[in-house]
Amino acid sequence: MAFPAPLEELIEAFERFPGVGRVTAERLAFHVLRDPKARELAGAIERASTQTLRCAACGNVAETDPCAVCADPERDGSQICVVEEPRHVEAIERSGAFKGVYHVLMGALNPAEGTEAAQLSIPALVERVVAQEVREVILATDPDVEGEATALAVVEALEQGLERRPLLSRLARGVPSGGALEYMHRGVLQDAFEGRRAIGERR
Ligand SMILES: [Zn+2]
Repeated sequence: MAFPAPLEELIEAFERFPGVGRVTAERLAFHVLRDPKARELAGAIERASTQTLRCAACGNVAETDPCAVCADPERDGSQICVVEEPRHVEAIERSGAFKGVYHVLMGALNPAEGTEAAQLSIPALVERVVAQEVREVILATDPDVEGEATALAVVEALEQGLERRPLLSRLARGVPSGGALEYMHRGVLQDAFEGRRAIGERR
């Protein structure tokens, strides 16, 4: 026996979420039918997708373009911190450790999950560095396998795409191993910025 078509459609929509399999998707779909509060999700999804946009400068998700950080004249536009996800921007902003601007890649290299370099906004970063006076690019991708591979891809793109590359640096790794950036404490993030290390010049 099959579920009614509209319910099946909802189950399949839940199955598209990362880490959600068929069984969980069915449980979520029935939960939506039972709990009127859970149905507010529909409106929240609609608003989140129609009332936010990507900042044309940094790629972050925002309510305005340029985003609040890019539009702030107090921020140092010559220092760009490269992160994987918007939630990493939030974590760094909360720490108060950084006064430059960001570049949000929208993901990390993950061949197993099908995320390749072409899907990340690395070319936009190279364009930005060509077009603007950029003194330093700080790589703040996660300290895991995907994050390290992503940092390497960014360094390669900058070295190939530019006559003279800016200073490239990587956040210090006083970080609990495998610790994702968004879970770092304020002090740890501050130390990670202060202790960042230059990445070797091209030979
Ligand atoms: Zn921005």
